[in-house]
Amino acid sequence: MITNENISKVFKIVENHVKKFGTPYVTEISLEKRDLFKILVSTILSARTKDEVTKIATERLFSKIKNVYDLQKLDEKEIEELIYPVGFYRSKAKLLKKLANVLIEEFGGKVPQRIEDLTKLPGVGRKTANLVLILGFNKDGICVDTHVHRIVNRWGYVKTKIPEETEMELRKKLPKKFWKRINTLLVSFGQNICKPVSPKCSVCGLKDICPKIGVKIFR
Ligand code: SF4
Repeated sequence: MITNENISKVFKIVENHVKKFGTPYVTEISLEKRDLFKILVSTILSARTKDEVTKIATERLFSKIKNVYDLQKLDEKEIEELIYPVGFYRSKAKLLKKLANVLIEEFGGKVPQRIEDLTKLPGVGRKTANLVLILGFNKDGICVDTHVHRIVNRWGYVKTKIPEETEMELRKKLPKKFWKRINTLLVSFGQNICKPVSPKCSVCGLKDICPKIGVKIFR
């Protein structure tokens, strides 16, 4: 079972695994330059989209715009063409158009710094809001996506049904030093080792301590 007794060791093992897999694109741009608006937009584009597609779409969009005011001037069709083929590109184009209007009308064209304000923005749920806080503002947050939710439940570290519940449980028990890192690490670990279907338990450094809760088939 994985508990706070061995969580530091578990993070070390996961870090060793993911070293070879590279940095997710959204983390990459936050390291380059803390462009809050670009971090927010690319995080929205990244939902249900492969990292390499997010990267191409974000770079294409930002070759045409520099800030939220430029985005507001584009019409939905132009945004669609620029962000294609991210998942749900039509809905995301609508969302980005609304996002530009709300940011300008209610937040003076700036990305807000409080989670309560971020979650008021179109297309921004707790997952995106936490990621923007962490990557954009270097604040404490726990970004729980499907990988984080699935893996910490397989570990038996939490017992939850939905990602929002997982975030709240992790806020109660996960030592703060792991908050910012957990998403970047477990997204990569989840894409490459602890996969949604048939995880690669035989090559996983955690195989002797992980209870593999809910895992029916593994390799
Ligand atoms: S042992 Fe299997 S279920 Fe547990 S973390 Fe590793 S890959 Fe995931």
